Amino acid sequence: MDKLYHEKSLTKEEYITLIDNRTPQTSDYLFSLADKRRREYYGEDVFIRGLIEFTNYCKNDCYYCGIRKSNRNVSRYRLSEEDILQCCHEGYVLGFRTFVLQGGEDPYFTDDRICEIISSIRQQFRDCAITLSIGEKNKESYQRFFDAGADRYLLRHETANFSHYAMLHPENLSPQNRQQCITDLKAIGYQVGTGFMVGSPFQTSQNLAEDMLFLKKVQPSMVGIGPFISHKDTPFADKPSGTLDLTLFMIGLIRLTLPYALIPSTTALGTIAPNGRELGLKAGANVIMPNLSPVSVRKKYMLYDNKICTGEESAQCVKCLENRVESTGYHIVVSRGDCRGHCPRTPV
Ligand code: SAH
Repeated sequence: MDKLYHEKSLTKEEYITLIDNRTPQTSDYLFSLADKRRREYYGEDVFIRGLIEFTNYCKNDCYYCGIRKSNRNVSRYRLSEEDILQCCHEGYVLGFRTFVLQGGEDPYFTDDRICEIISSIRQQFRDCAITLSIGEKNKESYQRFFDAGADRYLLRHETANFSHYAMLHPENLSPQNRQQCITDLKAIGYQVGTGFMVGSPFQTSQNLAEDMLFLKKVQPSMVGIGPFISHKDTPFADKPSGTLDLTLFMIGLIRLTLPYALIPSTTALGTIAPNGRELGLKAGANVIMPNLSPVSVRKKYMLYDNKICTGEESAQCVKCLENRVESTGYHIVVSRGDCRGHCPRTPV
């Protein structure tokens, strides 16, 4: 642990040893080191990102995901450009300076339509960052979105191990392509976020160690991780969910490995434990991504069962989160919350 704190990297075997032999005591020690590191780079600041889930149509069939193409029980929706801008207006008033457009891979949203939406947000909210999370596209499309005004892109690598990737996805989705997308996004100049689920079916501690090495190589600005949570209408309905303690431990390891990273304490973490997001912040996370989607569609963007915050108005959500964040001793700030480290465009 001390070696990781000082050298900011470990070998695969060392990561495995830490993960496999963790105890409540070693975890607490890790969190104290992670907290020290996080304060060094970001003080007590917690950045908020307004998440706008603008479509739950998806052409993909990932085995873990509730809005996968084959799930007939999903009531599908798309937000209009006006709806999306309305969400941004509400969010701006509440103090958001980053908007995250997330959705399934929905062919209705052509590059032209996405560019149009980005340009409108860019024109109306000059001081805000625009983040996209809309899956795998070709480099030309990513370039067009960037030129239209997008700043950041979230694309979790899901798992760095190729055979594990094949256990989570149908054959038409390849880890090579997903990693190529991450490379392209970085080369274009996006602040890139990647990440993985903790406790996804068939995952081993060796896989998690490989994820750590992958992060070290790619040097993303943001790393999103959360527990896998089963969804009743997927092939993984009966698989156990990831645990709180392992997810928190991985957050701590990520903070020490990539000290400058922006790490969200995710909704999935808040779903498996009532105080999960507070504990995530204490383990090294420094970002919260409240939902800005209209309440009428929130229950329809169910990636996993029992997702929290699907019944409240955005303003209520922010109030609740402010209280939760204050209880940890950190503070929400009104800021774009850009990355404070140098993240090279090519892997190291
Ligand atoms: N279509 C976009 C956005 C995907 S949703 C894309 O391909 O990137 C964002 C993330 O939610 C996914 O990357 C995945 O890691 C996570 N997710 C999906 N299903 C989940 C589940 N059942 N439990 C926990 N996280 C899940």
